[in-house]
Amino acid sequence: MADDLVVIGGGVAGMAAAAHAARRGARVTVIEKSDGLGGSGALSAGILWTAPDRETLRRVTPRGDEELGMVIVDGFEDAVEDVRSWGVEVSERWYGQLGYGVAHRIDIHALLRAWEEEVLRSGRILRNTASTELIVEAGAVRGTRVHGHGGEDEVRGGGVILATGGCQGDPALLRTWLGAGAERLLLRSNPHSAGDGFRLGRSAGAAGAGAFDSFYGHMIPTPLNRWEPEDYLPLTQYHSKACVVVNVYGRRFADESRGDEVTNQRLFRQPGSRGVVLCDERVRREHAIAAPYPHGQVVDRIEYARERGARVATASTLDELVDEVSRWGVHGPRLRQTLADVEAAAAGSPPSTPDAPFPAEPQPLVEPPFYAVEVQPAITFTFGGLRTDTYGRALNEAGEPVPGLYAIGADMGGVQEDGYIGGLILGLVFGPRAVEAALGAPARGRAEEVSASG
Ligand SMILES: Cc1cc2nc3c(=O)[nH]c(=O)nc-3n(C[C@H](O)[C@H](O)[C@H](O)COP(=O)(O)OP(=O)(O)OC[C@H]3O[C@@H](n4cnc5c(N)ncnc54)[C@H](O)[C@@H]3O)c2cc1C
Repeated sequence: MADDLVVIGGGVAGMAAAAHAARRGARVTVIEKSDGLGGSGALSAGILWTAPDRETLRRVTPRGDEELGMVIVDGFEDAVEDVRSWGVEVSERWYGQLGYGVAHRIDIHALLRAWEEEVLRSGRILRNTASTELIVEAGAVRGTRVHGHGGEDEVRGGGVILATGGCQGDPALLRTWLGAGAERLLLRSNPHSAGDGFRLGRSAGAAGAGAFDSFYGHMIPTPLNRWEPEDYLPLTQYHSKACVVVNVYGRRFADESRGDEVTNQRLFRQPGSRGVVLCDERVRREHAIAAPYPHGQVVDRIEYARERGARVATASTLDELVDEVSRWGVHGPRLRQTLADVEAAAAGSPPSTPDAPFPAEPQPLVEPPFYAVEVQPAITFTFGGLRTDTYGRALNEAGEPVPGLYAIGADMGGVQEDGYIGGLILGLVFGPRAVEAALGAPARGRAEEVSASG
């Protein structure tokens, strides 16, 4: 029997879509490669956030698709209400997430459980089962071939939603998109999002879209004696936005205040993709050992890096710090000059030819002790993906819909580039919209019926 809808990927976007379809009475099958649900969302900090307005969207992610971006900006409020409608706890609102975003913390695990219950009421979730090929009949996508414990099988449906979470788990594809060395990017994501959605979509005629040279991730200390999902958040160097970051030549290469997720992409393009994050005791106190955002984890990120085996230096003078860091292969005299340049910039006399633009408020190392942590770039998801319209309908090169095919979450390309406007929100906004496109105008859902009956 064919389902109403087949969803490939049981992460945030896929489960959001599946649960909304089930809530409308549709029979859905979710195909999930791993044995758990939630994908990277289950590893996330659970901050539901995005840019608050068009101006911020344009400023933060100038090459992003503004039409898709504005669907998120305009859909944020409804997405927050929608989370509440599943009986899930939502925190107070705050502004300034990553410096510019509007945000709430949500109980992402409770949300995933609520979605799972809803889907299982009328549909099914096939775990440890991967979609391997799309079934295309008379020009329309009608299902997928899958591989799981039971061997090969077919799952058919009236529409297929791709929600496999991006391409970061495929080193060869990363190298093609981002260039040499990308295959060595540290993976800060679930390991199963390996470009399957992109390949499946392309095989059915969908076009690619977005900035394939751009990605979301963070700088992570190096080397590491352990890299488990529980290390992802405490090793994230959110505080680098208030630090001085240099490459092995001892030179700055980014305006650090744009955020760790932007500096991370610049670091990837530096020699050896290695850098050093330097700060003083004030920055450590105010940023590195404090919560990076409301409800964020409070952990000493410098000490945690040291415990995980990374190169970390603590020194009572700048000369000592530079000596120590130069033993890691960083050019000492130039690093000393860079620190002096930052001090001069903070005093209003920046060098005439800086290596990189200075932050509006440069952060010289003033209060001892001083700290340095060696870092490497990491990837959480790719910004390039499949071309879609604002309802997640996959589009071909001519901009026409590929009948029966949708792409949402990180499988959708073009929403953002360079700067970051959120991950969870993509699934929460485009999941329900793709369902609407696939199943037609919304029927009265269970939640509306419940609230209408008081
Ligand atoms: C440490 C960390 C913290 C984060 N914190 C936040 C945060 O606070 N706020 C925020 O907005 N974002 C955050 N993110 C990003 C966010 O989690 C992701 O952007 C989001 O989960 C992407 O949703 P998705 O559904 O596209 O992919 P995912 O949630 O990763 O789900 C993809 C799913 O598809 C499955 N899959 C892959 N291939 C196949 C296949 N062939 N067949 C079947 N299934 C397949 C995978 O196993 C996976 O379960 C964080 C990410 C990480 C790693």
